[in-house]
Amino acid sequence: MLTMSTLNNTPCNMLECKMCGQIYKRHSSLAKHEKSIKDANTIKPTIYDLPEGAIEETRKMIVYHIKERLKQHSRHAGNVNIMVNCTESQFFGVFKGYIHNYYPRTGNYKCIFKGVDTYSTLSLILRDDNWGAKYFSQHQKTFVLSYQLPSNPNDPDPLREPDPLQEFDPLQEPDPLQEPDPLQDQTKKRRIHKPKPVQIIIGWRKKIKSDVHNINYSSGFIFINFTVSRMRIVR
Ligand SMILES: [Zn+2]
Repeated sequence: MLTMSTLNNTPCNMLECKMCGQIYKRHSSLAKHEKSIKDANTIKPTIYDLPEGAIEETRKMIVYHIKERLKQHSRHAGNVNIMVNCTESQFFGVFKGYIHNYYPRTGNYKCIFKGVDTYSTLSLILRDDNWGAKYFSQHQKTFVLSYQLPSNPNDPDPLREPDPLQEFDPLQEPDPLQEPDPLQDQTKKRRIHKPKPVQIIIGWRKKIKSDVHNINYSSGFIFINFTVSRMRIVR
């Protein structure tokens, strides 16, 4: 975090939420924010304390679904949304301690992973160093984009040199299965000057449906939003 604050020219004693990066002017506001995070990570009456083996199965399931979206061709690069069945207890078992928001009205949860430690934090949570990377022939690596150094036009970043694998791809099309995002259009217009921050959002939500007799049925889902990128491994 020290590196980040130096690059952003913000004082080191700034009042920042280490999870979401929000900066506060007053200690009391940050304390309130941190209290809500602490509450979000407290076990709820709706959660079963699962045995470690069951939590490990859930971690493997999550890694499987992430890696299934890491493909060789560039048309699969870009923003990815995953939504798979997962119980609240499973979600909490894996992500407890890293939850940023809990919404008591809906019972939904949200985690935000951003900053230089994103990849290693998720390696720790998912107990798998390869959770976000897949290797292909011809030294190609497809990976979950977890961090990008802040760009500064006066100080070109060697890591941001044009990547031959990331050139414009005429085959790249919007994913028809992707849920429409009302904010997407605005983001696209702004993208040239202000790129979308690199972050990984992982959350849990409950879908409740009912029929004409008002008979309810429901299921929990984990949702994961990230950006897929590609590179050539230089030996
Ligand atoms: Zn925060």
